[in-house]
Amino acid sequence: MTNYDVIIIGAGPSGTSCAYNIKRYHPDASVLLLDKAEFPRYKPCGGGVSPEVQNYFDFDVKGGIDSICTDVVMVANQKNIECNDFPLWMVRREKFDKFLLDKAIAKDVQFMANCEVVNIIRLPEQSTVVTKDHGEFSAKVVVIAEGGRGKLAKKLGMSAKNTVLAALEYEHYTSHLDGKLYIDFDYNDSGYAWNFPKSDGMSLGIGGFLKGRAKGNVGLPERLGKYSQQFSVDKLDKQYLHGHPILLYSGRQKLVHDNVILIGEIAGCVDPLTAEGIRPAIKSGYLAAKVIAYCIRENRVKKSLANYDLAFDKEIGRDFYYARIMAYFLNNNLAKILPMISKPSAVKGFMSVFSGSSSYRDKINFRRILQLIWRSIFK
Ligand SMILES: Cc1cc2nc3c(=O)[nH]c(=O)nc-3n(C[C@H](O)[C@H](O)[C@H](O)COP(=O)(O)OP(=O)(O)OC[C@H]3O[C@@H](n4cnc5c(N)ncnc54)[C@H](O)[C@@H]3O)c2cc1C
Repeated sequence: MTNYDVIIIGAGPSGTSCAYNIKRYHPDASVLLLDKAEFPRYKPCGGGVSPEVQNYFDFDVKGGIDSICTDVVMVANQKNIECNDFPLWMVRREKFDKFLLDKAIAKDVQFMANCEVVNIIRLPEQSTVVTKDHGEFSAKVVVIAEGGRGKLAKKLGMSAKNTVLAALEYEHYTSHLDGKLYIDFDYNDSGYAWNFPKSDGMSLGIGGFLKGRAKGNVGLPERLGKYSQQFSVDKLDKQYLHGHPILLYSGRQKLVHDNVILIGEIAGCVDPLTAEGIRPAIKSGYLAAKVIAYCIRENRVKKSLANYDLAFDKEIGRDFYYARIMAYFLNNNLAKILPMISKPSAVKGFMSVFSGSSSYRDKINFRRILQLIWRSIFK
């Protein structure tokens, strides 16, 4: 059995960010990155990314993006509110994820595709990773970065209790484009529909909470079909339609379990208000990498790996706490609250957070929230 310092399971943005940054901060560490897929691979995703992700790498991330969009249209109560102040990166995940993976490989991370991990045997010093077809490997630290559909964390009793959003993505390839990004609240009772422009088409989608009688099928295909018609998509072709759950942040939880840790979406590292997951995934991979690099270099895995829990809470969890409060009131009182927030200033505030120019903590005015709660209850 080959031994490594670190094994990372999953080569999405969280896994590659973690792998790359471990080598960046501790070039001598031996890092194995495993993914059950072959790259490039498709991942259902709108592909809207905050330029803030640049902060977590020392190379130019723009090399992996499709385009930059500055024209955002938010639609609520049949009213269009435009915002042109904050650039957002648009990515095609097959290209973006492969770009980040290649950067990690170039940094001497060992990568194995088509390598599904089926179990982790947790041992105090060196845990064993069991794969379906490629035998076993062992490491001082094992990182689970398996994304929203992963099964390992659940199997090992480590999965976080996350709120699940059902989402549907449709890729429409066309040259008839206006280059605008649309976020539309008029097509769902909880959640929103979107059209994220790409250079060769649009990524159309819709998300909604799994709750009540509609659980498991919140009527998303019909709603997305209706929404897409305004962009001259008459019928959704099933081969370009992809369903996927999104695990939203649901509060503080333990992400370090001895020498096994969770990053990215399987750690519930997705904005509970917007369902944005790429930037937080990259950031959690970066935070974990800094802690792991230190632990391996100083031989302090047992003593210091839990610092990742603290860093996650400080750098990601605290801001998501504010987003959760907003999400709770918005999703439970969408019809009442929407008219109150359908204003250019609110859209601007929202876009400044989404683009990474500011944080929820900077933007949220608690007096205003109390006013909204009061009005939503009593009006
Ligand atoms: C429809 C939809 C639209 C979205 N739109 C946006 C958006 O516009 N902007 C945004 O920021 N976020 C968006 N998200 C969220 C975002 O896609 C995810 O949160 C993000 O991809 C999480 O990254 P990750 O690295 O944690 O996991 P993933 O990107 O899911 O990667 C996990 C990897 O692990 C591998 N894997 C899983 N299990 C195993 C195993 N047992 N063995 C080996 N490999 C394994 C998988 O093959 C995969 O490559 C969207 C999500 C959905 C579903």
